[in-house]
Amino acid sequence: MADEIDRANDQAEYFLQMALQRQLRANAKPSAQICEDCDEPIPALRQQLVAGCETCVSCQELRERHA
Ligand SMILES: [Zn+2]
Repeated sequence: MADEIDRANDQAEYFLQMALQRQLRANAKPSAQICEDCDEPIPALRQQLVAGCETCVSCQELRERHA
């Protein structure tokens, strides 16, 4: 009886982990190498630091100011 409960808990834990990993993968989109707004190359450091960035620093600031 106790074994069955343990197994159910393990399974719930397993599915939770799978769901979390799927979500992480979906969010981890690659950084753009060229700014979407001004077509300037985005520094490699920024690409690494800001995962999924779409713009260079100055365009990002402009976007945030307009937002
Ligand atoms: Zn830009």
